[in-house]
Amino acid sequence: MTLHAPYDPDNIFAKILRGDIPAVKVWEDDDVLAFMDVFPQSEGHVLVIAKGSTARNLLEIEPEVLARIMAATQRTARAVQKALEPEGFQILQFNGEAGGQTVFHLHFHIVPRWADRAMKGHGHAPMADMTALKVLADKIAAQLEPAR
Ligand code: 5GP
Repeated sequence: MTLHAPYDPDNIFAKILRGDIPAVKVWEDDDVLAFMDVFPQSEGHVLVIAKGSTARNLLEIEPEVLARIMAATQRTARAVQKALEPEGFQILQFNGEAGGQTVFHLHFHIVPRWADRAMKGHGHAPMADMTALKVLADKIAAQLEPAR
């Protein structure tokens, strides 16, 4: 998929937003959804997406929507940090197939990191157990602070 293809309304995140397929949600509001990555690269890997936008990548996102996603990503990362106490974390965002992107609805990854735990490869991690993901999502959601 190039950087300039049309938005596919049947991409996996569009299906999650429509409720066509399940997702383990951390939190949502009218504009954004934070949910657990089902192939986590580390424990507590969360994805943040915009609900109303059909931007596939950073080039296409409306600046005001980007601001809301980034604020949501920061809010979620704060909750991840409090809930799981990683020693660090990465915010990842891939653009175009050649850039490593596999789902073409703009999203930001929050990947908690620990010095003694290797991060699994992007697109090579095994599928997580749904019950375990729900426990993590609840733990993270419990640490959310009010939106600023
Ligand atoms: P990208 O490669 O586009 O930056 O990231 C897409 C992410 O979506 C990957 O980390 C992948 O593990 C995740 N993913 C793919 N399919 C599903 C799914 O059905 N549910 C969830 N929750 N995550 C998915």
